[in-house]
Amino acid sequence: MRAFEATQIYFERAAEKLELDPGISQMLEMPKREVQVQVTVERDNGELVNYVGFRVQHDNSRGPMKGGLRYHPEVNLDEVRALASLMTWKTAVVDLPYGGAKGGIGVDPNELSVRELERLTRAFVDQIHDIVGPDTDIPAPDMGTDYRVMGWFRNQWEKYHGFHPAVITGKPVEEYGAKGREEATGRGVGLLTVKLCKRIARKPPETRVAIQGFGNVGSHAAKFLHEAEFPVVAVSDVSGTYYDADGLNIPDLFRHKLHHPRGLLEGYSHCEVLPMQALLSLPGVDVLIPAALGGVIREDNVDEIQASVIVEGANGPVWPDADLELERRGITVLPDILANAGGVTVSYFEWVQNRQHYRWSLDRVRQELDRTMSDAFENVWQTAQQFDVSLRTAAFMIGINRVRRANELAGWHRSGG
Ligand code: GLU
Repeated sequence: MRAFEATQIYFERAAEKLELDPGISQMLEMPKREVQVQVTVERDNGELVNYVGFRVQHDNSRGPMKGGLRYHPEVNLDEVRALASLMTWKTAVVDLPYGGAKGGIGVDPNELSVRELERLTRAFVDQIHDIVGPDTDIPAPDMGTDYRVMGWFRNQWEKYHGFHPAVITGKPVEEYGAKGREEATGRGVGLLTVKLCKRIARKPPETRVAIQGFGNVGSHAAKFLHEAEFPVVAVSDVSGTYYDADGLNIPDLFRHKLHHPRGLLEGYSHCEVLPMQALLSLPGVDVLIPAALGGVIREDNVDEIQASVIVEGANGPVWPDADLELERRGITVLPDILANAGGVTVSYFEWVQNRQHYRWSLDRVRQELDRTMSDAFENVWQTAQQFDVSLRTAAFMIGINRVRRANELAGWHRSGG
């Protein structure tokens, strides 16, 4: 299955419940603009290499478009389109004044030196600078990009358009970044896992958690849940699954990752080490958090899942057929567009601070993040009860309804971005 098709299926399940007019439905599903560019970089040895870069601007009915930049070898137009669409529903579900977009380059950032990565980013900005901006489309980090990439992006964009740090979020904290932005996605995942467990009467010490991916999202979610006294029994990355039935020492794993040249858990030996794929089907796991790639829980492996709760830290980790099967088995799925919205929420706080030339404390960021996520969770939970639908369909219904309403208020005549 292709990623955009999966997103469309989720959209349509909700659109049907909302009895949306087919013309409106199609208008909301289709991206506003898709851009594909050539990105040429000179390697340190003088060789020229060419990559394909994308920016898909899905919707701007509720405000400037917003969404990350992904550097990963599997990035393609279909995936970026799906991720851009998810951003539209995500910003709507947490009620940020934004639309949705996504960008990326089909590149393995691990194969490039830091200087090559910088040149790649600057070359990409040269190609897309005129379609992004603080009032039109605001990029941010995603898989394979971080605060350094955001810093280079801003610097290159400002060469064309002048000083405006609000053009991009997830910047270095010393360079107009927001405190708490880096931890935000993982913190939000952790926060809502705690909330959901409380709602379904699962107590922290008896609720065992497994997290796929120990990157920015997975590691911060692990830290939050560890501090909330949930035993995190397994985490994984490309080097394997790290398992301890009594709960892993998360601060120790964190330190290991910090010292590894590629931020991996490779070489960590204070627990059992299993193959990477083992994580999804571990016995005795109550909460499973896929926090890496999309499409990891599919029709062909859904039967192996033993957890009773899935919290989607990643974007699009569950394919629609598997999702129906999980629902049939009574497994609760907290969907990506709600569960991982903490990142874009703090991106919004960063943008607000940049525009006001004002800095918030970490405490304020965390407080406002907690409130925004909790309100959105309550709303999704109540909607799911009211319409007797899954949390995913409820989240899509809320998001779609807000975007539909914005278009209605604009008389169905939105301007371009
Ligand atoms: N890439 C993140 C996401 O998928 C964050 C986007 C943002 O901060 O704009 O939600």
